[in-house]
Amino acid sequence: MKISDVRAAVSAFPTPEPKADGTLERTATTAVTVEVTAGDVTGLGWTYSGAPAATLVRGKLAGAIVGNDPDDVASCFAAMRRACRNLGGKGLVMQAISAVDIALWDLKARAHGMSLGALLGAVRDRVPVYGSGGFTTMSDDQLRAQVAGWRDLGCTAMKIKIAESWGRRVERDLQRVRLLRELAGDGVELMVDANGGYSRGQAHRVGAALDELGVTWYEEPVSSDDVQGLAVVRDATRCDVTAGEYASDVYDAEALCTAVDCLQLDVTRCGGYTGFLRGAAVAAAHNLEVSGHCAPALHAPVAAAVENLRHIEYFADHARLEPLLADGVPPVVDGGIVPNSSPGHGLALREHAQQWEA
Ligand SMILES: [Mg+2]
Repeated sequence: MKISDVRAAVSAFPTPEPKADGTLERTATTAVTVEVTAGDVTGLGWTYSGAPAATLVRGKLAGAIVGNDPDDVASCFAAMRRACRNLGGKGLVMQAISAVDIALWDLKARAHGMSLGALLGAVRDRVPVYGSGGFTTMSDDQLRAQVAGWRDLGCTAMKIKIAESWGRRVERDLQRVRLLRELAGDGVELMVDANGGYSRGQAHRVGAALDELGVTWYEEPVSSDDVQGLAVVRDATRCDVTAGEYASDVYDAEALCTAVDCLQLDVTRCGGYTGFLRGAAVAAAHNLEVSGHCAPALHAPVAAAVENLRHIEYFADHARLEPLLADGVPPVVDGGIVPNSSPGHGLALREHAQQWEA
């Protein structure tokens, strides 16, 4: 069986209202979906990126893998990376490759009538999730409703955004962390994400306040491009400093592992399931756990196969739109996701997903 067709579509999902984290405002989330066909079997993958990623999939990436054996995922991955050498292997290019890689793994598992969990080899039946959202643009009442939703799902860890307006509203940041404690209750782990909005010194000072408040997870206190800065903050705070959502390959993973307490990886950015498994192996060699960033339905099967996994992120925006994009999104029950046991990842593009096409 040979790969015969690679298709890509762009879907834009408007957010219910404009929202912001510490360093970015947005009004829509854009998904680039990829379908790869061999024989009469089609695999599905996607990434949260922009229209140029779809152009890349239809052009260079399709050119690199059409005619290949879909069982040889590693060979397809290598061919895609080689084809993009002169475009650079990171960022948008790797987002496009990630979506194709996920579709290839899904295709392979479906072609063999296996779930991805069976193909990858699971180490757990259930993948723990943490509730994530808490945008800086939300009112206290909106946060209250969101936290109540996470509690209903059995989440024992919850994360909100801080570093509002590039770190210019630290008092409000800390006030919202206090509110999160009040709403979540004592038994819940408090997590925050600064999205790289603080300077090193500021991140250090905010970290000391977060330690006082019992926060256990301090994500991107400074830009993840400032690896040395992350290490400085990590060494100065009790809470775990984390980063990795922009990691594209094992070199990025290796660099970050010298500076974080938990490595984040995103299957839609780090090279799909191939990249996630490789990044997790790098983290294991540093005695670190990994955490899946966003896209919970896509992470579930590979997260079940990674021994040094801490949890995956049940990100409010993606939890909302994954069921609009695909049928078969596994639910969160008792704070975890049981990956689908149907062939592949068990997700299928919805008939009316086209209504979102951009
Ligand atoms: Mg983040």
